[in-house]
Amino acid sequence: MQEKLQHLKEEAIHAINEVKSSKKLNEIRVSYLGKKGPITEVLRGMGKLSKEERPKIGALANVVREEIANKISLKQQQLEEEEVMKKLANETVDVTLPGRPILQGGTHPLTAVTEEIEDLFLSMGYSIAEGPEVESDYYNFEALNIPKAHPARDMQDTFYIDEETLLRTHTSPVQIRTLEQFEGKGPVKIICPGRVYRRDSDDATHSHQFAQIEGLVVDENIRMSDLKGTLEVFAKAMFGEEREIRLRPSFFPFTEPSVEVDVSCFKCGGAGCNVCKGTGWIEVLGAGMVHPNVLKMAGFDPVKYQGFAFGIGQERIAMLKYGIDDIRHFYTNDLRFLSQFKQL
Ligand SMILES: [Zn+2]
Repeated sequence: MQEKLQHLKEEAIHAINEVKSSKKLNEIRVSYLGKKGPITEVLRGMGKLSKEERPKIGALANVVREEIANKISLKQQQLEEEEVMKKLANETVDVTLPGRPILQGGTHPLTAVTEEIEDLFLSMGYSIAEGPEVESDYYNFEALNIPKAHPARDMQDTFYIDEETLLRTHTSPVQIRTLEQFEGKGPVKIICPGRVYRRDSDDATHSHQFAQIEGLVVDENIRMSDLKGTLEVFAKAMFGEEREIRLRPSFFPFTEPSVEVDVSCFKCGGAGCNVCKGTGWIEVLGAGMVHPNVLKMAGFDPVKYQGFAFGIGQERIAMLKYGIDDIRHFYTNDLRFLSQFKQL
């Protein structure tokens, strides 16, 4: 029995010394020390031994078991170290390799223009109001003095969802929703940025979806000159201190009087060029004094309160500001286009 244990020990130690991987070492552990291993077998067979032999063999078996276990754990450590060294040797880092460039995003030109306009009006004490893009016919048309049979509805071909629901054709419904919240008491001073939808065929200057910022001021003693002054500040901030504006009579059902607003050409300064088509002026937005019917329907007394409103198209502003010749560039996500605006 003693010889057998001694032999087992030598055999195990030899196997452990020869082993080259932790996986094989684990197999050795199982085969020598496991429940079905030879040492366990010796301990099980102790019942057949004489009383004198039993403690001797038992002690020896335990010593052998311990020695093998220690040897295995030492070898385990050694193998792990070797494996780490091997891995490190294989994965040498070449510090002279140039790094991989990380692509950095930029602000989309429409977002940049929107934020610029928002900042300008926030600095003049306006607050930002938002509303749903899926609107009711009432807020999009009727409350804006455009009843069902009104010919002005032809001006805005509309995406209808059902007879009473549509994709808003302008952000004006947000003005009505906000006016209602004020329950007939001014002052109201808001801008409404957002996406709007029209049934236009897409081409270089038209898109079925575009961005808009409308502004609305309702208070006592608001006059056309307040509108003009506000738009002058806007034109100078967006296109340069030298800019002048010009108002031309126009028609919108929700404002009376209504005007188209031109800015003196920022390229030629008024002499005439391709940007202003030789006129010296560029049309930038529509505006007007809020129609008394609109105020009335939103719960304001049109005798006590007056207001002005204007609508700015960010695409138009961005196209003029950055010399972009096709509105579709804003939506096609072409990186060659977008990366030119990284600094914005
Ligand atoms: Zn010009």
